[in-house]
Amino acid sequence: MVKLTRGKGEGGRGKGEARKGKREGGRGKNNLGRRKAEGRRGNPRKRFGQHFLEPVWVAKLIDVIKPAGNETFLEIGPGRGALTRPLAARAGRVVAVEIDRDLAAALVREQIANLRVLESDVLELDLESALRDEQQPVRVAGNLPYNVSSPILFALLKSAAGGRFFSDATLMLQKEVADRLVATPGGKEYGALAIQVALSADVEHLLTLPPGAFRPPPQVTSAVVRLRFRPRAVDVGDPRVFERIVRGIFLQRRKTVANALRPVADALGHSAAQLLERAGVDGRLRPEALTLADIAGLSRAVL
Ligand code: SAM
Repeated sequence: MVKLTRGKGEGGRGKGEARKGKREGGRGKNNLGRRKAEGRRGNPRKRFGQHFLEPVWVAKLIDVIKPAGNETFLEIGPGRGALTRPLAARAGRVVAVEIDRDLAAALVREQIANLRVLESDVLELDLESALRDEQQPVRVAGNLPYNVSSPILFALLKSAAGGRFFSDATLMLQKEVADRLVATPGGKEYGALAIQVALSADVEHLLTLPPGAFRPPPQVTSAVVRLRFRPRAVDVGDPRVFERIVRGIFLQRRKTVANALRPVADALGHSAAQLLERAGVDGRLRPEALTLADIAGLSRAVL
């Protein structure tokens, strides 16, 4: 087994979804004792979002992934190997990244010939270097720890290289997050996540799972989505500007676009009115009415 960065320690988490994900463990003052007890008994570690998939659902997930013998998979969070074993049995190779050293070590002990286990926090890992020697594009699969699912999504989007590095990702998410991923303009779920993803991937919802599909059951409904990575759908000019505009306007989603855009436009040294005019976007709209093309137009207008 390759042991990679341990990051900020076992509890090191991303922000954002972290506080919302109800599959996440609390961090109360008895955590140290609880951690030791969890480790000793091999109990699920709540702080790692461990909810293990039941066999009947593993089969359904493998069915929708359809691994083939010539493919390489990155599995995020293999846990006790429920998905890892059938993936390795069907795929050419599997690289599995697991933060929990006990679970990573147990998988290594199984000596599965086409499985490479990396003991690491996937968010601390340089995915491009870790997978450099693997055949690309790599497919991604994972029953994700919900507390860090959004940062993981963004890391995958960042490395996908228009489908050349990662071709697709089949991911288990909290249903609420999956709904935000597949949302289209006009709805209340539509926002920064849907736009960032729509720029570089086609997304489809594949399965909905009740809490009972996992041991221990989480408090939320889950969903499996597939992202098919591809080159950007539109020219956004400078992607960092695009990202700032997306985040900026959806921070103030109850305002009109003209008002929501003002702080970020100011910070970029432009007036909101000027950007709206150049992009041909009606400033009286609400942010959720804007299409990907509208926001790309605002971003290009900054150049
Ligand atoms: N794949 C297994 C299954 O379906 O039964 C386990 C899924 S469980 C929801 C999430 C897994 O991700 C756990 O094994 C957990 O230890 C691991 N994990 C949590 N945070 C991680 C991180 N930042 N990097 C890598 N693995 C992580």
